Amino acid sequence: MQDAATPQEDRPWHALEPAEVIRRLDTTPDGLADIEAEERLARSGPNRLPATARRGPLMRLLLQFHNLLIYVLLAAALVTLLLDHLSDATVILAVVILNAIIGFVQEGRAEKALDAIRGMIDPHATVLRDGRRLTVSAEQIVPGDIVLVEAGDRVPADLRLIRAHGLKIDEAVLTGESVAADKAILPVDDSVALGDRHSMAYSGTFVAAGQGTGVAVATGKDTELGHISTLIGTVEVLKTPLIQQMDGFARHMTYAILAVSAAAFLFAFYLQSYSADDAFMIVVGLAVSAIPEGLPAIMTITLAIGVQRMATRNAIIRRLPAVETLGSVSVICTDKTGTLTRNEMMAQAVVTAGGECEVTGAGYGPVGSFRTMGSEIDHQRHPLLMELVRAALLCNDADIRQTSEGWRAEGDPMEAALVVLAAKAGLDTALIRKQLPRTDEIPFDAQHRFMATLHHSHEDGGFILIKGAPEDVIAMCAHERQVDGDRRLNAAAWHSGSEELAARGNRVLAFAMKPARAEQRNLNFADVDSNATLLGLVGFIDPPRAEAMHAISSCHKAGIRVAMITGDHAATAREIARQIGLSDDPRLLTGTDIDRLDEEGLIAAARDSSVFARTTPEHKLRLVSALQADGHIVAMTGDGVNDAPALTRADVGVAMGQKGSEAAKESAGMVLADDNFASIVAAVREGRTVYDNLMKVISWTLPTNGGEALTILGALALGLTLPITPIQILWVNMVTAVALGLALAFEPTEDGTMRRPPRRKGQPILTGELLWRVLFVSILFVAGAFGLFFWAESRGLPVEQSRTIVVNAIVAMEAFYLFSVRYTHGTAFTARGFLGTPAVLIGIATVAVAQAAFTYLPFLQNVFDTRPLSPLDGAAVIGVGIALLIAAEIEKRVRFAVTRR
Ligand code: ATP
Repeated sequence: MQDAATPQEDRPWHALEPAEVIRRLDTTPDGLADIEAEERLARSGPNRLPATARRGPLMRLLLQFHNLLIYVLLAAALVTLLLDHLSDATVILAVVILNAIIGFVQEGRAEKALDAIRGMIDPHATVLRDGRRLTVSAEQIVPGDIVLVEAGDRVPADLRLIRAHGLKIDEAVLTGESVAADKAILPVDDSVALGDRHSMAYSGTFVAAGQGTGVAVATGKDTELGHISTLIGTVEVLKTPLIQQMDGFARHMTYAILAVSAAAFLFAFYLQSYSADDAFMIVVGLAVSAIPEGLPAIMTITLAIGVQRMATRNAIIRRLPAVETLGSVSVICTDKTGTLTRNEMMAQAVVTAGGECEVTGAGYGPVGSFRTMGSEIDHQRHPLLMELVRAALLCNDADIRQTSEGWRAEGDPMEAALVVLAAKAGLDTALIRKQLPRTDEIPFDAQHRFMATLHHSHEDGGFILIKGAPEDVIAMCAHERQVDGDRRLNAAAWHSGSEELAARGNRVLAFAMKPARAEQRNLNFADVDSNATLLGLVGFIDPPRAEAMHAISSCHKAGIRVAMITGDHAATAREIARQIGLSDDPRLLTGTDIDRLDEEGLIAAARDSSVFARTTPEHKLRLVSALQADGHIVAMTGDGVNDAPALTRADVGVAMGQKGSEAAKESAGMVLADDNFASIVAAVREGRTVYDNLMKVISWTLPTNGGEALTILGALALGLTLPITPIQILWVNMVTAVALGLALAFEPTEDGTMRRPPRRKGQPILTGELLWRVLFVSILFVAGAFGLFFWAESRGLPVEQSRTIVVNAIVAMEAFYLFSVRYTHGTAFTARGFLGTPAVLIGIATVAVAQAAFTYLPFLQNVFDTRPLSPLDGAAVIGVGIALLIAAEIEKRVRFAVTRR
C-alpha cells in the first residue's frame, strides 16, 4: 500500500506513475536528445558492472604447483637435498620452477586473450533518442534513456516500464524464479519484493516474450544486479573433456610411476647391490624422466591458442568444450537468412491485384523507381500500390539511417527494406508514422510468422494492418483489394503468385488490412484470424554470401553434411540452396512434414534431406535430437529467443553475434561475430587443428618420457653401467619438455585437414594406435641410447664422455622425433616439413644452445660430469636422430597402409 508518510520524491520507481518517472528523470517518451545523452554518460559513467576481482598473480603462481606430478617432484627434491645431493636437488627444483613460470606466463596470456575475446560479444540495446530508434552499445545507456526491449533481449539497465505488450521476463538471475514474470505498466506498492515489481524490468534479466518500452532508472553498478555483483564475471577455468581425461590419465600414471620406482628401488638395493643412496638417486631420475610434468600446461596452452585463432576467424568461443567438439562435428544445421545470405534485403517486386511491378535501386538508399515491363511507371497513379506501401511502412518497427558509410538499416533488415520501399514511393515516412500512430500490436514471432498493428486516424477511424508469411496471411483474408473496391479473394491465384516469386529466390511477405472500431484499443489474435482484405505481396532479394558457397563445398569435402533450416518458404529455400551450391535438387522437408513424422520417421527422413523449410524453433529441437540419435555430432545455428533449447541441445550451439538475441548467445557454445556460415567452417577447421595438436603434444611427450625411463630401467634390470646419470636425465627433461613440447602447441593446420572425415564421437585419447606408437618410439630411444653407449665404450672412451654422447643423442632424437610428430596424417619429408615453424625453430635453437653449454661449458661440465665431444661423436649424435626420424616415418607409412586396408 502507498505509505502516507512517504513523500512522493522518496518513493521507489516501481511505485510511481510512468509520467512521474519521466518527469523525475527529466526525459520524454521520445527519448533524450543525443547531446543530452552524451552529457549524462559523462556524468553517470558507462553502463557496465565493475569487473570482479581475479585471482591475484601470487595465487596464480602458487596454483601452478598444485598438481600431483609436481608434488612428487618436490618430494623427490626434498629427499635428494636431505641426502646431500645439492646439485641434483637444484636441477629438480629448476625443472619445477621453470615449468611453473612457463605455465604462469602462458596461462596469464591465455586468460588475457580470452578476456579480450569475451569483450568481442558486446551487447547492444535499442533506445529512442530524439524520437528515432537507435541501436547503441549497452554501455552507452544513461538514466532517462527510453529503452525498447523484445523477446530474446537481455534487459540492459533497470527500467521502469512505460509500455508492455505481452511482456514476460525471466528474472531467474535475480530471483531464482524460473517461470517468466508477466510485466505491466501500472505502479505496484512501495514495499513489494523484487519478484513482484511488475512495473520494472531489471538489468541482466531476459525477455522471454512480447515487447516493452521502459525508462532507464539505474545503470551500471547502481542496478539491482550491480548490488549482487558476485554473480557475474565468473572466471571460467581452462578445462575441457579432453584435458580432464588427460589430467585423470596423468594422475594414474603418477601412481604407476611411483609403484614402478618403488619396485626399482628394491631391485637396485637388494638384487643389484647399489647403496641406498645411489639406488634412491636412480629412482629419482627414473621418476622425474617418466613424469610428464609439462603436459597439462602445454595442453592448456594449445587449447588457448585454438580459441584465439578461432576468434581471429570471427568465431568466439563461449564454452571451452566447444573447441574440441567443433573438431568432430559431422552435421552443420544452419539458418539461411544472414548466415548463408547477406541479410541485405531489397524489396524487388510488388504484386497487387493490379499486377506486378519491379522496384529498382541498390541497398538501403531510398532512391529507385517502379517499373512494369521494363518502363518506369508513375506510382502515384497506382492507388493499390500506394496503399500496400503505406501498410508496409506502418506495420513495421525498423528505420533507415544515413551514416558516413551510406544508408544503414536500423532494426530488422527486411522491415528496413520496406521503409526504403515507402521512401522510393515518395512517402514522408516519419510524417505518416506520426499521423497514423500505432495503438497496439501483435509482435512478429517465428512461431506464428506474422505481425499486426492497430492504428487510428481522423478520417479512417481504426484499422488493422497485417504482414507475414503469405500462407498465413492469405488464410486470414476473405477479400482482396481491387481498384474499384474489395472482391472475394482468389486464394489459389495469390498462392501461385507467391510461389512464383519464391521460386525466383525471393523472400515473400503478404500484406492485409482490416477495419477496426474507432474505440478499439487492444489487438488480439482473434481480431486478425479472419475476414481481412489482402493488399498484395512484396518479394525481397537477399544475395547469397560468396564465402558461404566456398565453405559449403569445403564441408562436403570434409565429410560434413550441411542442412539449411529456415523459417522461409520451401520454394525460396530450394532456390537459395541451389544458388549457394548446397544441392541442385535438394530433398526438402517442411515443418508440416516434420509434424507428421514420429521420432523414428524423422530420423530416417532427416538422413537424406538437406533443406528444412517453414520450420519453427520446436522443429529445430526435434531435428537436433533426430540427427544426434542417428549418431551425428551436430552444430546448430540460431538467433531467436525460442532457439535457445535447440542451441543448448546441439553439441555445438552457434549463435549469431549481430542479429542474434542475447538469449541465443547465452545458450550457445560459440558466437559468430559476423553471422557468417564460412566462420563456422573456419572454426571447425581450427577445432580439428586443436585436437590434432593436442594429440601431437601427447604423442611427442609420452614416448620421449617413456624412452628416457626405459633407458634407466633397462640398465638397472641388466645390471649395466647407467648410460645416463640421474642428474643428466633431469637436465634432459628440463631442456626438452618445455622447449620442444611447447612448439607443438603452435602447429598450424595440416594440409588435408578438411579432406578427412570427422573424428568419431567419443573417441578416447589413448587409442591402441597411440599406445603402440609410445611403445615403438620408446624402444627406438632405448636402442639409440644403448647403441651409442656401447659403441663409445668399444672405442675405449671414458664413461663420462660416453654418457655425454648419450645425453646429446637422446636430445637429438627428441628433436628429430618432433619433426615426425608434426605430421599426424602425412609424411614429414617435405620442404615445408623441414623448414618447420618459428616455434619449432626457436625450440630447436634453444635446445642446441643448451646442449652446447651442457657439453662445453666448464661450469656445467662440473655439475653434470660431462666431457667435450669430438666431431665424430657429434656426427653420431645427429646420425641417430636422423635414423630415428626415418624409422618413425617408415612405421607411419606401414601403419597408414595397414589401417587403409
Ligand atoms: P532463417 O531461419 O533462415 O533465418 P527466416 O528469417 O525466414 O529464416 P523467420 O525469421 O522464422 O525465418 O521467419 C519466418 C517467416 O516469417 C518469414 O519467411 C516471413 O515470411 C515471416 N516474417 C519474417 N520476419 C517478419 C516480420 N518482421 N514481420 C512479418 N513477417 C515476418
